[in-house]
Amino acid sequence: MKEITCKLLVIGAGPGGYVCAIRAGQLGVDTVIVEMAKPGGTCLNIGCIPSKALIHAADDFHRTVAMAAGRNAMGIRAESPAIDLARTMAWKDGITGRLTMGVSGLLKKAGVKIVVGRATFRDGKTVAVETETGEQVIRAENIVIATGSAPVELPALPFGGKVISSTGALSLTDVPQRLAVVGAGYIGLELGIAFAKLGSKVTIVEALDRILPLYDAQLTQPVAKRLSALGVEVLLGTRVEGLSATGEALLAETADGEERRIAADKVLVTVGRRPVTEGWGREELELDMDGRFLKIDEQCRTSMRGIHAIGDVTGEPMLAHRAMAQGEMVAEIVSGKRRSWDKRAIPAVCFTDPEIVSVGLSPEEARAAGREVKIGQFPFTANGRAMTLSSEEGFVRVVARADNHLVLGIQAVGAGVSELSAAFSLAVEMGARLEDIAGTIHAHPTQSEGFAEAAMKALGHALHV
Ligand code: FAD
Ligand code: NAD
Repeated sequence: MKEITCKLLVIGAGPGGYVCAIRAGQLGVDTVIVEMAKPGGTCLNIGCIPSKALIHAADDFHRTVAMAAGRNAMGIRAESPAIDLARTMAWKDGITGRLTMGVSGLLKKAGVKIVVGRATFRDGKTVAVETETGEQVIRAENIVIATGSAPVELPALPFGGKVISSTGALSLTDVPQRLAVVGAGYIGLELGIAFAKLGSKVTIVEALDRILPLYDAQLTQPVAKRLSALGVEVLLGTRVEGLSATGEALLAETADGEERRIAADKVLVTVGRRPVTEGWGREELELDMDGRFLKIDEQCRTSMRGIHAIGDVTGEPMLAHRAMAQGEMVAEIVSGKRRSWDKRAIPAVCFTDPEIVSVGLSPEEARAAGREVKIGQFPFTANGRAMTLSSEEGFVRVVARADNHLVLGIQAVGAGVSELSAAFSLAVEMGARLEDIAGTIHAHPTQSEGFAEAAMKALGHALHV
């Protein structure tokens, strides 16, 4: 097969890689992207999008079940709701199919050449791709490693049979009667709550003494309350030992030394993801590592000239929007523009019930950074829109410098607050002060009024509490 030469070669077409390639193509950079699975990577195929589709379906179903049981203050009645999970999954696959086709179309429109197959470095400028029709050698001036991440496997619970990863959970066609979830992080809680709403009896086993350890306890408290209302048992400080001899139950030792047998039809292991740093010829290169991740600088350059790395393979937070922002920046750098990582914050959203959003510093983080802070917190119980949505749980919290009122962080927990992340991110990125937020007219009735009220509260003059 004829060798390809190009200015930019991107390995991996997840959100990091495909955004990098599209932007490079738009800038006239001669670009090739290699993907061994489907365009869109983890995010579009087995991550963000499919999980949010399932969460939405589970929410709708759960609400309908509550209506059928007469638990509906609005007076809506329903009868005998049922869910056909195979159809739910087909609907979800339709969405991911449209999105991945869209990514291929955007790459083509930007003039990017797509090569399908596994890429392996031969040296710092040459990659060999195993394609269906033989080996394709590609030589490039610049190479971007965007190989992403994969689920962490526990030695005591290897994937296979009833032990599944998020990928397995997102392709189930029957709702498991009893689901054990190991790990109360992002995926364990997002999917654990979804399956509880679909009708599974869910037990979550977490090694630490709290759920969602990434977020502060005040933010996670409404989620803990909801888990309890949904009948989800959460075992904190608990160590999993493996499956019972018959494979019927998950064995675990609780914080007080009690042996637990958790009967389970499926065991979903969600104890984190690991960067994909093997399987693409790293041994042929001299790349410095930062722990288990590839080491990069503020321009996503690795320790080898001409080789950049972006996305999950480069470290925390392993989030799609961080990967995309890095991809866009690297494309511009390769095209000759002066760019470097200058973001003030990377928003984090957890699509639990209720949702959690955090941008910038929490009160503890701001104090730990030596700041004297002003904090304003506004509850959704005092927000008209939240009442009309029957979703009064939660609050918006603004953290600002006490001296000049510069906003350092904004957090919220509540139904649908993921969409508030746009306003929160913009405020932190633009260097807003409390007065800017309090002085902006927020449309009524919306949950976003809680944002302005939280800023006013920090200034000492909230109007509605
Ligand atoms: P990936 O998306 O992992 O893509 C890497 C690509 O590289 C893959 O397609 C892979 O096939 C390809 N590849 C690897 N090696 C080679 C090779 N040698 N040759 C060719 N191709 C190769 N993040 C959010 O921000 N919001 C969410 O709501 C969210 N939900 C998630 C839900 C789940 C269940 C999971 C698992 C993850 C979720 N994430 C979420 C995380 C998000 O999916 C990742 O942060 C994001 O996909 C990382 O993008 P990436 O481009 O670095 O890598
Ligand atoms: P996570 O890091 O969010 O949570 C893992 C949890 O497992 C932690 O609470 C940890 O204490 C626990 N744990 C670790 N070892 C354990 C053990 N042996 N027994 C019991 N508990 C154990 O990881 P995840 O949920 O697998 O998600 C992986 C990554 O994917 C996230 O860190 C995030 O970057 C990304 N993600 C993001 C979103 C989102 O943005 N909404 C959604 C899903 C996934």
